[in-house]
Amino acid sequence: MSISLERINKSFGNFQALNDISLEIGDGQLVGLLGPSGSGKTTLLRIIAGLESADGGRILFQGEDVTGQHVRERRVGFVFQHYALFRHMTVAQNIAFGLDVLPRKQRPAAAEIRRRVGELLEMVQLAHLAERYPSQLSGGQKQRIALARALAMQPRILLLDEPFGALDAKVRKDLRRWLRNLHDELNFTSVFVTHDQEEALELSDQVVVMSAGRIEQVDRPQALYAKPDSRFVFDFLGHVN
Ligand code: ADP
Repeated sequence: MSISLERINKSFGNFQALNDISLEIGDGQLVGLLGPSGSGKTTLLRIIAGLESADGGRILFQGEDVTGQHVRERRVGFVFQHYALFRHMTVAQNIAFGLDVLPRKQRPAAAEIRRRVGELLEMVQLAHLAERYPSQLSGGQKQRIALARALAMQPRILLLDEPFGALDAKVRKDLRRWLRNLHDELNFTSVFVTHDQEEALELSDQVVVMSAGRIEQVDRPQALYAKPDSRFVFDFLGHVN
């Protein structure tokens, strides 16, 4: 499902967090939003999800205007940086909860929920942990459960806010590869936020570089590598490392 952002603005009080953001994301793309802390990445992601509303501008999914739609109607999967799993629920219950975000009429019956949870547990290779609680899982396992929960409603768009930020380097690399494979297999459109340039360049079909509430650059990773004079991204990358 393609995503079009048309002149999105967002202020918090007097502070303009997003300044006239326009962006086209093609169907099936895996897009990385890269930029320093405070550049507006999370705010933009939350506006695409419908978790936050813009002050102006339009959002279209596959040509349909969803600007006024509630998060439930938009049917996007969302993965939070710190997993946001429910501590009092088992792994299976956490995944099943992913279906509770659907409007009541669209929620499947109990048997179908069980079937789908089983399938997702297989997909994230954690079927053996179905009855465990989040506190009994590693960080990487928790994030895979959070992904399974986001995928439970079969979203056409999956949004991830610094999905691997809290994990150590080895787990992060493994999960990156795993997300890339999952994305290619299930063919959803995906936008993830990161301030890790290596992650953005390795994982994305397109990298969107943000700074101070604006988009500075949109390019394929290969093009970003190939353009040493590319003004912004390498300035920024230079500062991070
Ligand atoms: P990033 O994800 O790139 O780190 P954010 O989108 O989280 O940036 O934040 C962009 C700017 O907007 C920051 O300066 C942040 O302090 C501000 N901001 C974000 N959310 C709020 C809010 N709910 N209230 C006030 N300011 C906010």
